[in-house]
Amino acid sequence: MGAQTTIEKLEILADAAKYDASCASSGTSKRSSLGKGGGIGSTEGMGICHAYAPDGRCISLLKVLLTNHCIFDCHYCINRKSSNVRRARFTPQEVADLTLSFYRRNYIEGLFLSSGIIKSSNHTMEQLVETARILREEHEFRGYIHLKTIPEADPQLVHMAGLYADRVSINVELPTDAGLTRLAPDKDAKQIEGAMKGVKASIRQAKDEKKRFKHAPRFAPAGQSTQMIVGADKASDADIVGKASRLYDGFGLRRVYYSAFSPIPDASAVLPLKRPPLIREHRLYQSDWLMRFYGYRASEVMQATDDDGNLPLDIDPKLAWALKFRGQFPLDVNRASKEELLRVPGLGVKAVGQILASRRHRTLRLEDVAKLTVSIAKVRPFICTADWRPLTLTDRADLRALLAPRQEQLELFAA
Ligand code: SF4
Repeated sequence: MGAQTTIEKLEILADAAKYDASCASSGTSKRSSLGKGGGIGSTEGMGICHAYAPDGRCISLLKVLLTNHCIFDCHYCINRKSSNVRRARFTPQEVADLTLSFYRRNYIEGLFLSSGIIKSSNHTMEQLVETARILREEHEFRGYIHLKTIPEADPQLVHMAGLYADRVSINVELPTDAGLTRLAPDKDAKQIEGAMKGVKASIRQAKDEKKRFKHAPRFAPAGQSTQMIVGADKASDADIVGKASRLYDGFGLRRVYYSAFSPIPDASAVLPLKRPPLIREHRLYQSDWLMRFYGYRASEVMQATDDDGNLPLDIDPKLAWALKFRGQFPLDVNRASKEELLRVPGLGVKAVGQILASRRHRTLRLEDVAKLTVSIAKVRPFICTADWRPLTLTDRADLRALLAPRQEQLELFAA
């Protein structure tokens, strides 16, 4: 390992970090100007990913592990103790240097740093904090820093991470405690939630102090997030939605990320052989949006699931809910409340805002609504306008088949 160059280490540790869902670039297809293809640029390796800053900007981050050595043996993880992968390890100084050199070249706007557990949880957490400290204190680095924190580490170290980072995250890993015990035997659900609780308290305290003292230290101003692995155990979408809702309510999380389990080389026999369809992950993100932006309670999203507790894959959860509760439609777009309109399949938050603004001045017709949506065919069965009433359309037995996207579109969407 002493002979590894920085580039070799980066190759290993950026690749090992791609399983974390908090950045969205992992699914990019590989293109490179090296070799026969010619041209310029490359999408391969080297760990640059994209994430959204608190103000909604898309930012590029160096996404890397400090090390992929790990003393834990989580069954689903390629970096687990018993895994036969190439290992590498950066020092905090090396990660800080890489971050600064990428930043100066304008490749990135920040750092996303996680790590396997080396020696002990506290030792690893110290190394993560030290990396952020070097950047912030020695180089006055003002870019974005997202630190994965280790729930088993001393809470004081987790607190220090929050003083340097914009965002901290602690992975709950699996939707149920039973799943965690089975697949991540070294981890403890209570410890994970205890660490999240501590971060929530620190965020709240820092906000209070900031109101009173101008120079009060900031603490994870972009909040905390977590990640759940989908499809590695038997947890249904209803279990996952319920867990996500409890996490949002209990720990004030900014985001819950859902990561479809991907089979790994030399996988343990307790894991499924196939990854779940990627569209399942997408449906969970849609259900997450329903809870965060559309006013659905978790129990209502669960009502959209099929008998097996999973969300349908062929239609989105909002449409699934509306088809189950057809009695609540059609809604008159010229009279319905904002909350009611947000339940209409095919109408987004922006479209509903535009409807509310426009109807103050005039009575809306179907063509007015059509201008605000990608598919008026999807919206039409659920609304009335000055010149449109669906009559028996909402009652049609084949309405779901009529509204489900064609298979080719689904595949394109899932890619
Ligand atoms: S602690 Fe993290 S890096 Fe180590 S095996 Fe578990 S998931 Fe993988």
